[in-house]
Amino acid sequence: MEKKDIDWGELTFSYQPCDYSYVCDYEDGEWGEGGLTPDHTVTLSECAGILHYCQECFEGLKAYTTEDGSIVCFRPDLNARRMADSAERLVMPPFPEDRFVDAVKQVVAANAAWVPPFGSGATLYVRPMMFATGEVIGVKPADKYQFRILVTPVGPYFKGGVKPITICVSDYDRAAPHGTGNIKAGLNYAMSLYPYEKAHEKGFSENLYLDSATRTYVEETGGANVLFVDEDGRLVVPQSATDSILPSITRRSLVSVARDMLGMEVVERPVRFDEVDGFVECGLCGTAAVISPVGRIVAGDHEVVFNGGSDEMGPVMTKLRDTLTGIQAGTVEAPEGWIVQIPVE
Ligand SMILES: *Cc1c(COP(=O)(O)O)cnc(C)c1O
Repeated sequence: MEKKDIDWGELTFSYQPCDYSYVCDYEDGEWGEGGLTPDHTVTLSECAGILHYCQECFEGLKAYTTEDGSIVCFRPDLNARRMADSAERLVMPPFPEDRFVDAVKQVVAANAAWVPPFGSGATLYVRPMMFATGEVIGVKPADKYQFRILVTPVGPYFKGGVKPITICVSDYDRAAPHGTGNIKAGLNYAMSLYPYEKAHEKGFSENLYLDSATRTYVEETGGANVLFVDEDGRLVVPQSATDSILPSITRRSLVSVARDMLGMEVVERPVRFDEVDGFVECGLCGTAAVISPVGRIVAGDHEVVFNGGSDEMGPVMTKLRDTLTGIQAGTVEAPEGWIVQIPVE
């Protein structure tokens, strides 16, 4: 298999259509056979449910090349599970989890020429999604859906080194208590764009959202979970009493890495924003960057500084990130089932 002629190191996080997408339709109460397609467009009725009442959810994972040249994905079974949970919450028929993993394998294998080579820092981003194609005019769940996976090569998240970012506590809310903050749905992003633009205008990289009921507890940013390290070197992981934090697969993996591989103490509990001053490191975690270090959190005229204001990632976040990226790259032994091989001829 010959790789595409691409300057892998120069890729950004933008859409580049590849050879195939995966598509499967749901009709008459069941999922069809599904398969690969070279067609990267979707034709919809103007009355499709997605366009009116926003029945849509998605996932995000990466395929990449390990040192020995094989193509792998990281824990796709957890994306399958989470997408089924998201679908259920939006009254959409879950795509069977085993078929989800199989579809990821098929579409990545078919686009193997687009999977960036080992050492380039680039990856093939895999974006499964599901949306209502059936027609609805009154408010109700549609009766037809499409499950689809697009893939696109994306560049290294950090170009020219990892630098701590400054984020701000948002005046807006992300997720209502017991709302949809715990599922991966486009609707959670639509309403975050305005505060995101506002934060950018003021020079911040991201918004930190507090719990919307009391504005007391740390929840997460628009698209990443938050981690802290306390003075005793413990990993402190914010929990939501109102189930409004997205269950990040990176966060859950880092918690296992910290506890089971690095012998760290991990505390998962609600974290008040007024305690954050006492923490020594902060990071954001998600598939794209694994961990982005946070150097400062600004809340009005108050500023919290981490890792002594250094322009480097703190030692604990660095160790966590190196271990997880080592597992992903195949240089650190992976826990059972974390790395899934893509069969490529
Ligand atoms: C996708 C997402 C994350 C990160 O989840 P990963 O599974 O680690 O990629 C965190 N927060 C929100 C709101 C998300 O949508």
